[in-house]
Amino acid sequence: MTFSRRNLAKRDHHTCQYCGAQPGAEAITIDHVVPRSQGGVSSWTNCVASCVRCNAKKADRTPEQAGMRLRRCPVRPEWKPLYAAHGVRVESWARFLSHELALLLA
Ligand SMILES: [Zn+2]
Repeated sequence: MTFSRRNLAKRDHHTCQYCGAQPGAEAITIDHVVPRSQGGVSSWTNCVASCVRCNAKKADRTPEQAGMRLRRCPVRPEWKPLYAAHGVRVESWARFLSHELALLLA
C-alpha cells in the first residue's frame, strides 16, 4: 500500500482521528502526529486523517502539547495480503464457473 493522502484517509475510514468527524474524502487532511517542525516524518505511523478544524487547532504541536487525544494509534495497514488472497479466491471461482459452463454447453 503506497503512502498517500488518499490511502491514509482510507486507512482511517475518512474519519478525523481526533474528533471523529467525517467531512468527506476530499475534505479530510493529513495530520503529522509529531509535526514536521519537531522532526516528525511522513509515514503511516506518524500520520493520521484529520478534519481541517482539528488540524488547524493542533497546528505544529504533538497531541500531548495540544491537549488532544488520538482515537487510535496510527499503524501501517496490512491490506495488501488480504486483497491478494481475495483475488486468488475470485479467480479460482471464475475458473470453476467457466468449467461448469463448459460442461453444460458440451
Ligand atoms: Zn476533527
